[in-house]
Amino acid sequence: MSDVIVVGAGVVGAACAYYCARAGLDVTVIDRGPVAGGTTGSGEGNILVSDKEPGPELELAVLSNRLWRTLSAHGGFEFEAKGGLVVAETGEVRAQLTQLAAKQGVEHTLVPPDTLRDYEPHLADGLAGGVFYPQDAQVQPMLAAASLLRHGAESFGRGTLRLRLGATVTGFLRSGERVTGVRTSEGDVLGGAVVNAAGTWGGEVAALAGVNLPVLPRRGFILVTEPLGEPLIRHKVYTAAYVTNVASDSEGLETSAVVEGTPAGTVLIGASRERVGFDRTTSVPVLARLAAQAVALFPALREVRAIRSYCGFRPYCPDHLPVIGADPRVPGLYHACGHEGAGIGLAPATGHLLAQVLADERPDLDLRPFRPDRFAEEAQ
Ligand SMILES: Cc1cc2nc3c(=O)[nH]c(=O)nc-3n(C[C@H](O)[C@H](O)[C@H](O)COP(=O)(O)OP(=O)(O)OC[C@H]3O[C@@H](n4cnc5c(N)ncnc54)[C@H](O)[C@@H]3O)c2cc1C
Repeated sequence: MSDVIVVGAGVVGAACAYYCARAGLDVTVIDRGPVAGGTTGSGEGNILVSDKEPGPELELAVLSNRLWRTLSAHGGFEFEAKGGLVVAETGEVRAQLTQLAAKQGVEHTLVPPDTLRDYEPHLADGLAGGVFYPQDAQVQPMLAAASLLRHGAESFGRGTLRLRLGATVTGFLRSGERVTGVRTSEGDVLGGAVVNAAGTWGGEVAALAGVNLPVLPRRGFILVTEPLGEPLIRHKVYTAAYVTNVASDSEGLETSAVVEGTPAGTVLIGASRERVGFDRTTSVPVLARLAAQAVALFPALREVRAIRSYCGFRPYCPDHLPVIGADPRVPGLYHACGHEGAGIGLAPATGHLLAQVLADERPDLDLRPFRPDRFAEEAQ
């Protein structure tokens, strides 16, 4: 019997397992597919403090940013502390970005229009300046998730970490009200606590325990270019519209340019957001829009071929905050899901805080904004 069962081997589940094992707990991670086979395998890998309004999510992001830097010392995954540049198309938007940066209280540099090209030599003409955030970084999310699981399993010698792939959780075991494990397609697994780290499927797993959690899919496409010989883009670069899109409640299609190079030489071009269920059909109009927005930002991309695209489903909660912590409705059940478009960035802090709760320590951040029972009945 494990102390903790983690349902989901995405980056969030991997971080939960890693920090629990580090805290001396015996952990079993269960996933119906492979490691990072869910949304983690479809993300971009940005670790952003720049796009968050002041508040609980930004606090989580700042903590996570620090933890990613420590974790990157283990090696085993690409981590680039490259910084993020948010650009404004107009003076009015630049003023809004400047105001946001002042409120956030994170490290930043205001970039006037005439020094934008000191950061990004290939940016288009006519942009109105921006804000540079040195803490923004990038990871390769699949390798990062795998590396967290490997290091959790190997490094501590206190807790243990076991991985059971290809097992679908189909129900919960109980003793009275208390959860004592999970039923899976491959047999029952006993555990002192169960962590629901099932990402976009977190609502389905919660329903198996008889509780509502309104986690919905928010689809996003990424366009990938051929590898470039010379790096064209140095930082993570995005337009101010991205911040608005992230915070929007619209179900309709929203796109804004998010562009970055990778160590492999490819350029990743995002990002679209739309609520269309779990529809994986490739949308050429969405991809065309992403490409056009990227070319408007970096005209040299016009000559570059796109070689593939992929899509994934961000785990979206109505208030755009993740669900982290003990579920007061079901003793023994914990949640770590619903991180929407920031789950890669927020994974280490989520895992760290949840491990603190499970080890009966006081968490470093107030978890009340993330509590599982915060949603109004009508939203469930
Ligand atoms: C296009 C796009 C771009 C993105 N870019 C970024 C970015 O730049 N930065 C960032 O921070 N985030 C980004 N995100 C969001 C990020 O990818 C997610 O927030 C994150 O990957 C969620 O991780 P997770 O571990 O919670 O979920 P997942 O990776 O989806 O893992 C959940 C796991 O649970 C398993 N599971 C579900 N149900 C069951 C069951 N019943 N039994 C067993 N296993 C089950 C699934 O198989 C899956 O492996 C992006 C997302 C998209 C779609």
